Amino acid sequence: MARERNSTQNKKNPVIRVALKERSYDVSYLPGIGALKNAINDARGKEFALIDANVDRLHGKEFRRNLKGVHFIRIASGEKSKSFLSLERIANELVKNGATRSSRLIAIGGGVVGDLTGFLAGVFMRGIPFLQIPTTLLAMVDSSVGGKTAVNLKAGKNLVGVFHQPQHVFVIPGLLSTLPERELKCGLSESVKTALIADAGLVRFLEDYSFKKARTDLDFLQELSAACIAIKADIVSKDEREENIRAYLNFGHTLGHAIEARLKYKGILHGLAVAVGQRFAALVSHRLGYLEAHDELRIHDLLKKYELPATLRDAFGRTKVAGSELIRYMRADKKNKDGHIRFVLLDEPGVARLPENVSEQELLASLKEFQSVS
Ligand code: NAD
Ligand code: ZN
Repeated sequence: MARERNSTQNKKNPVIRVALKERSYDVSYLPGIGALKNAINDARGKEFALIDANVDRLHGKEFRRNLKGVHFIRIASGEKSKSFLSLERIANELVKNGATRSSRLIAIGGGVVGDLTGFLAGVFMRGIPFLQIPTTLLAMVDSSVGGKTAVNLKAGKNLVGVFHQPQHVFVIPGLLSTLPERELKCGLSESVKTALIADAGLVRFLEDYSFKKARTDLDFLQELSAACIAIKADIVSKDEREENIRAYLNFGHTLGHAIEARLKYKGILHGLAVAVGQRFAALVSHRLGYLEAHDELRIHDLLKKYELPATLRDAFGRTKVAGSELIRYMRADKKNKDGHIRFVLLDEPGVARLPENVSEQELLASLKEFQSVS
C-alpha cells in the first residue's frame, strides 16, 4: 500500500531525525545563514569549511561572518573536484593549517562538495566528524543525507568511497534563490523520484504544482525537500548499506546512468538523465504488468509539469538511438548483479518494487517502444 504523507508539513523550521543508533543525527531547517551561529555546536578541535566556489562568490561573506574561527577552503565548482587530486590537495592544506583528530569539516555546497568532504572526513586521520550544509536542491533532497561519500575514478563515477554519516545537516532553503534553473530541475527530478518510490500523497502534492510555480516558491521547496528527506531518512535508517530497500532510490538510474555515460558525462546533467530514466522505468513497469497504463501517463505528465526531459529525443535530440548501445552501457552499471541488468520498477506511483532482472530481449523491445514516446 502507498504510504500516506505524515510529513513535516506546515512546520516553520522542521527537524528530521535520521535514526541510526549511535550514528543518528538531525536534519535541521534554518531560516537563514545567520541562524547557523547559534545552531552549530562547538567543534572539539580546529574546524574547516570546504565551500563550493560559486557558493563562496554568492554567499561566502555571510558564511564567514557566521562561522567565526572556521578556516575556509574554496573548492572549484564541478564534478572534477570529486577526485583524488583535490582530496590530496585539501588533506595537505588541512595538515598545514593545524588539523588534528579532533577537527571537524563542514561541507558547504552541492553533492560534489558534500561527497568530497564526506569522504575526506571519513578517511582523514582514520575518520573525523563532518557537517553538511547543502546548497543545491539535489543535495537537500538526496546527497546530504545517508552517509554515502565518494570520489570518481577515470573508470567511473563514485568508484572509491566510504559510508560516513554526517554529524548534523543544516538546510537553509533561502540558498536556493541563487541556484540556476537547470540545477533546480535536477533536484526536482530526484524529488519526483523520491515521491514515486514511496509516497502517493507526495506525488499528488507535486501534481498540484508546476515548475513555473515551484521555482520561486521557497515555502513549496522547503516542504518538498523536508518530505523527501523524511522519506530518505526512513529508508536509510532501515537499510543504511543498501542491502534491500535503499535500492529504491536508484529508480530511474539504470537508463539514467547509461544516458550520462553515452553522452560522456558532458551532454546532460545527472538529474535530467534520471528524469528520462524514470519515464522509461515507468514504461517497463507497465509492460511487465505492474503499473497501470493511466499511471504510466500520470508519471509522464508529472515530469513534463516540471519541464523535465522524458523522452529519448529530449535526451539526445533525436529518437533513433541504438537500443543495443544503451543496453551495453546499462550492462556496465555497478548496481548489476551476476551480469543481469536490474531495474527498480513501480507497482503504482508511490509504491516501488525491489530491483529485479529485466532480460535484454525485454529491454530491447521496451527501448523500441520508448522511441515512439513523445
Ligand atoms: P554540484 O555540487 O556540482 O552543484 C551544481 C552547481 O550548482 C555547481 O555549479 C555549483 O557551483 C552550483 N551551486 C551550488 N549551490 C548553489 C547556490 N546556492 N547558488 C548558486 N549556485 C550554486 O551538483 P549537485 O547536483 O548538487 O550534486 C551532484 C553530485 O552529487 C554528483 O557528484 C553525484 O554523484 C552526487 N550525489 C551523491 C549522492 C549521495 O548519496 N552521496 C546522491 C546523489 C548525488
Ligand atoms: Zn541520482
